[in-house]
Formats: sequence, structure tokens, C-alpha cells
Amino acid sequence: MNSQKTLIYDLSLPELEAQFKALGEPSFRAKQVWVALYQTLRTSPDEITTLPKNLRKKMGERFSFQALTPVRAIESKDRQTVKTLFSLEDGHLIEAVLMYYDDRRTLCISSQSGCGIGCSFCATGQMGLNRDLSSGEIVAQVLYFARQLAEEDDHVTNVVVMGMGEPFLNYDNVMDALDRLNNPDAFGLGARRFTISTVGIIPKIRTFADAGTQYNLAISLHTVDDDLRSRLIPINKVYPVGDLIKACRYYVNKTSRRVTFEYALIAGVNDSVEDAEALAKKIRGMICHVNLIPLNPTKGFDEAPTSSEQASVFCEVLESHNIPCTIRIRRGIEIEAGCGQLAAEYTK
Ligand code: SAH
Ligand code: SF4
Repeated sequence: MNSQKTLIYDLSLPELEAQFKALGEPSFRAKQVWVALYQTLRTSPDEITTLPKNLRKKMGERFSFQALTPVRAIESKDRQTVKTLFSLEDGHLIEAVLMYYDDRRTLCISSQSGCGIGCSFCATGQMGLNRDLSSGEIVAQVLYFARQLAEEDDHVTNVVVMGMGEPFLNYDNVMDALDRLNNPDAFGLGARRFTISTVGIIPKIRTFADAGTQYNLAISLHTVDDDLRSRLIPINKVYPVGDLIKACRYYVNKTSRRVTFEYALIAGVNDSVEDAEALAKKIRGMICHVNLIPLNPTKGFDEAPTSSEQASVFCEVLESHNIPCTIRIRRGIEIEAGCGQLAAEYTK
């Protein structure tokens, strides 16, 4: 529909300035637009009343302002979790989730439409990859909820890239998006408020470690047994556990930042005391934290979540080795926003 137009959220500030130059406009106009998009959260040129009328018209001809069309919003019964399904301009679908906590408003956003990794337990993996999201499509998810929260006199406090897709297979667009969301002249959310979750794309973990950002890193580990992990997560054959842990140690040494390990507890599969001991042995001495998430059942995966008793046993084993660990509450399960990737906060 708008495919010949540039999505305005895809542009960095220098790129926007160059576009305005091409229109014969001074560069301060680009700054005005930038502030209108990311700080006053405007959604069309007509709303940017600081601009002359003719420029608003030109912008409307040149740029698309609507990356996402909300298709459906589903609220959990307690109204603390809202999942929104969006259609992209080409009709592909993505999801994002807003979670209300006492003092936080956390967004779980997507980096791709679908995912090509094919983890057997994951609803997104069962559906396959449609395509990467552009940086603007990633940014637009946050701006959408920021506008929604602004109407309630509220604001986004945390962003987790744990929705659909593998962020480190769309690395550049994810980093560009986070850059705009973090930049104090743009959206301005503090770097430590962001978390990227990866299935373990080793070369990108190293690139990320070298990038020197303050974003948090989470690794979806789920087991340290290579055979089992390869069955659950096919890409483990390319990036096996030993190498993955080495990359994590590299990240921690390089950044002095804590890494989070995500561990979906699957009854009788990866949740025994021996499994916990093996995990503790592998990650011993690393600055880290383990998030235990009882499996969210999905149609394509015939296993059950670990009981909360066994989850506590698993957690205690880790703690006996001085490994900090939490069991997550599964948020939004009844609205299928709890499929794990649409992650929740944790409490014990
Ligand atoms: N692709 C990235 C980020 C999206 S998935 C990654 O895999 O890390 C976000 C998290 O949800 C991952 O830790 C993933 O393993 C987890 N997850 C996916 N399906 C799940 C399920 N059915 N139950 C529990 N956790 C799940
Ligand atoms: Fe992709 Fe992550 Fe789901 Fe695996 S768990 S299929 S990497 S979204």
C-alpha cells in the first residue's frame, strides 16, 4: 500500500537530516520531527503542528508513518497483561505484550515475524520464519504502547526483546532500534532497561560483548546436555553448549555484566537434581542468574511443565552452589501471551 514510501521510523537522525536536505529543508526541521516522533509520540505529519503546512504535506507523500496496524488486543482476566497482534505493511503478523507490575511497565517485543530456529517447545518456532523486522518495525512496537500508556498518564519502564524471533539473527536492525529507543535525544529509555534474549548465536554474543552497550543479555539455555539440547534447539548442533558457555564467559569478562540463563523446566526431561548439578557445574564462577520458567504447554510439543515443588528443588540445588536463581510466574498464560517468549517477570 505504502511500499514505495520510506518508513520514517527506519531512519537514524543523520538519515532523516539527509532526507530533509534533499527536500531543501534546513536540518533543524529533522530535529523537530525527531522530537515529535520519539518524545511527543506523534503518529502523522498533520499532528506535527510545529511544521509549516506545505512541509507536512511533502512528508506525507514521502514517508510512511504506520509500521503496524493493531489487529487484535487480548487482555488477561486480571488486566495485568495485554497482548496485541499487529499486521505489518506486507500483511505478516507479529505480537507484542505489555505487562503491568507494581512499579514497572514491561514490554515484550518481537524481532522477526516468526522464527527459523525451530525450537520444538516454542509456538513461534513451530510456525517458521516469515521475515526479519526492520529497525522501524521494532521501534514502532514500543512507541505504540508508549502512546497507550501515555493516555493513562503512565510510561514504559522496561523492554525485553523476547517476543517472536531470534534477535541475534537480525542483529543490526535490533541494535539500530535499541539505539533509537535508548538515545536521550530520541525515546530516551535507559540502556539497563533493555534485555535481549538469544538462543545462543555465538558469533553475535561476541560482537555484542564487544559493542560495549549496557543492555542486558539473556541466554536460552534450557539444558547443558548437548544431545538433549540439540533435540530441543536444532541450532545447538552448530553452537554446542561448551562453546556457548565459553562465549558467555567472554561476555561477562569483557563487560563485567551479569548474564541471565533462561531455563524452561520440562517435567522428566531437564528438571532432575542431576540436571541441576550438571548446570551448576557448567556455569560455576560466572556472574550470572538463572531464571527457571515452568514450560508453557504448546500444541506442537507433547511435554508437561515441571511441578512447582520440583522447580523449588531444582532452584535449591543451584543455590547450594551459590548460583542465584528465581522461578518465574507465568504471566498471561490464558491469553497465550505466556508461551515463554512472551516472557514475564520473575518472583519466587
Ligand atoms: N529467540 C530468542 C528470543 C525469543 S524466545 C530466544 O530463544 O531466546 C524467548 C524465551 O521464551 C526463550 O527463553 C525461549 O526459550 C522461551 N520459550 C519459548 N517457548 C517456550 C515455552 N513453550 N515454554 C517456556 N519458555 C519458552
Ligand atoms: Fe525462535 Fe526463540 Fe522460539 Fe527458539 S525459542 S524458535 S529461537 S523464538
